[in-house]
Amino acid sequence: MPVAQLDRVAAYEAEGWRFKSSRARQDGPVIRQRTRPPLRTPQPASSSPLELPLEAGTITHDVFMREALKEALAAYEDNEVPVGAVIVHENRVIARAHNQRELLKDPTAHAEMIAITQAAAALNNWRLIGAAIYVTLEPCAMCAGAMVLARIGRLVYGAADPKAGACGTLYNIVQDARLNHQIDIVQGVLAGDCAQLLREFFAERRESP
Ligand code: ZN
Repeated sequence: MPVAQLDRVAAYEAEGWRFKSSRARQDGPVIRQRTRPPLRTPQPASSSPLELPLEAGTITHDVFMREALKEALAAYEDNEVPVGAVIVHENRVIARAHNQRELLKDPTAHAEMIAITQAAAALNNWRLIGAAIYVTLEPCAMCAGAMVLARIGRLVYGAADPKAGACGTLYNIVQDARLNHQIDIVQGVLAGDCAQLLREFFAERRESP
């Protein structure tokens, strides 16, 4: 790992719940290829825009962020930077993914990118209107751009990313009025848990390079 990445350990701002460090693998790594899942029930192409999900309360956000955290943990166990994402449409998870940059040797294999591809396949539509994406870490510029292109309705993220965050920290691509789509942001959901997982990951790497 580049030395420059090691100082990310201290960068994620959040406190709280200590992530359990027992991460013994039981069944070996779960490998998920970046392939499209089989289409779910085919949905007729709709010409009318889907509605945004009902105003989600804190509890709902926590529930879906926990699903994203499960994905982040799966990344951790695969020795990938632990970031996870799920996409919710009509209160149903239609995509879930984690960072697979190492496995796929692909710099674009961020959790959000994989989840967006899955969600578009699930809806059989590149427009993810009315969908909400839950991500454990503030998205980078690439992923923020992809969310705008996908017309996602809402972004909910956990920890802020002072090094690369493009949804309020370094930039705010998803709410730039010059672009043709803007996305609601809810930030800081389970931020402590999300950040702790990242900190532990980088701390462990520093101990055993
Ligand atoms: Zn990204």
